Amino acid sequence: MTSTIVHWADGAEYAGTAAAFGDVTNPATGEVTARVALADQADAEHVIAAASRAAKGWAATSLARRTQVVFAFRELLNARKEELARIITAEHGKVHSDALGEIARGQEVVEFACGISHLLKGGHSGGASTGVDVHSRLVPLGVVGIISPFNFPAMVPMWFFPIAIASGDAVVLKPSEKDPSAANWLAALWKEAGLPDGVFNVLHGNKTAVDALLTSPEVQAISFVGSTPIAQYVYETASRHGKRVQALGGAKNHMVVLPDADLDLAADAAVNAGYGSAGERCMAISVLVAVDPVGDDLVARIADRTRTLLIGDGSSDATSDSAAGGREADMGPLVTREHRDRVAGFVESGERAGAKVVVDGRDVAARGADAGFWLGPTLFDHVTPEMDIYREEIFGPVLSVVRVKSYEEAVALINANEYGNGTAVFTNDGGAARRFEEDVEVGMIGVNVPIPVPVAYYSFGGWKRSLFGDTHAHGTEGVHFFTRRKVVTTRWIDPANRPEGGLELGFPRNV
Ligand code: NAD
Repeated sequence: MTSTIVHWADGAEYAGTAAAFGDVTNPATGEVTARVALADQADAEHVIAAASRAAKGWAATSLARRTQVVFAFRELLNARKEELARIITAEHGKVHSDALGEIARGQEVVEFACGISHLLKGGHSGGASTGVDVHSRLVPLGVVGIISPFNFPAMVPMWFFPIAIASGDAVVLKPSEKDPSAANWLAALWKEAGLPDGVFNVLHGNKTAVDALLTSPEVQAISFVGSTPIAQYVYETASRHGKRVQALGGAKNHMVVLPDADLDLAADAAVNAGYGSAGERCMAISVLVAVDPVGDDLVARIADRTRTLLIGDGSSDATSDSAAGGREADMGPLVTREHRDRVAGFVESGERAGAKVVVDGRDVAARGADAGFWLGPTLFDHVTPEMDIYREEIFGPVLSVVRVKSYEEAVALINANEYGNGTAVFTNDGGAARRFEEDVEVGMIGVNVPIPVPVAYYSFGGWKRSLFGDTHAHGTEGVHFFTRRKVVTTRWIDPANRPEGGLELGFPRNV
């Protein structure tokens, strides 16, 4: 009998009443390991109501106490991250070290949120007018919904909830139904850290659960991360229901290699950024733009490296197995069989369209069960912009090399793309790098850094169809998103200097 993953409300598991469930699989074995409850409208209302009840009390809790709870959560997370990493690998498939990396990046945001008392300081202007002072306060919103994708079951929720909770909001997290266990583990950790019941809740499910959050009058704001069509839907629906929304979508990230670049550095970076986490990262590099004449040399170096990668079960148990010789796999399986087959379909489509298959991931020999969702690294050369493999977000271990004649052509390609999440340039010319930074219409830019995910105290977000709304995740933009401002104008009359005359109907003259 497989276990059932249920919702979390009021500080405890909540089974709900809907009789619908989704299968959760281990991608390295292909086995169904659990089933997850899929909420109906009544279940969603129950979980949202728990958050609603807790929101007022938490908003009124002192900054000192809120900070202590966030600190305690940080300490527990740091001490027990191995447990969480194992959960992530078992449901997502990414290798253990990568799961730990995801947690580390999420933990950075928790650490940022530990400084919330400084971040929530308002302004003060003494003597704005005679006897008049003005100050501003940042106050919590109430209940906020976070809807997350499968590819970072811990990090993406942690882009948002540490700041929301530290700011005094109550949270309902709707994780991906493909890897839902991390959310419940995090909920139990918050309880252990001393967070009052109802401040952090988990609602499992699919579109029904999402729609309930987007339309509930009790939810004030939505932070969404996922594919572009759903991000757009979430943005439009939640906005129509009067909510503040930030909806981060898909990506097609280009890495430009200029002729003067260090080609070994660029090839290492391309392999890491193209195939790490099996390419299931929104900041993965999926297009390599080789500026003449580096194409042949670069493709050869990437192909050589790609052939040395070990594909397999990335769980810590599999690595410590003596047959593995202690070597961790470099890349795990894809998240589901369906997704694996979709990505393999793109490989076929690229081949049909005339791109050159330099390394074919369909032939992979993986260290793991036959039934796992394996697809090896695939390298295409001579890809052109009208091909499906260039236009679509594949979200798998497929790297496409597009050859261009000049820097200008490389920039034009990036700027014509519908997405604007991340991009990188590899060069030894500081002037060229600086110009690239100015020329590209993209939210996050790396110079000799292939995956330029900003540190927690800066904000994460793309341009164009990679983000709907106007606020990026974490950093000061995150604090602004999860709070609203009140401005208080105060007048105290000096008893020694009471003004003469009574009523005055004119507009204040600011003297
Ligand atoms: P997805 O859009 O399928 O799912 C995201 C969330 O939306 C999940 O919680 C899912 O349950 C829900 N959902 C799915 N279909 C829905 C529907 N019809 N109506 C309402 N809700 C629905 O995305 P995914 O496959 O889980 O994740 C991969 C995608 O996420 C990729 O496109 C990737 O680029 C993107 N992503 C973007 C970023 C970023 O920062 N921009 C970060 C991570 C992932």
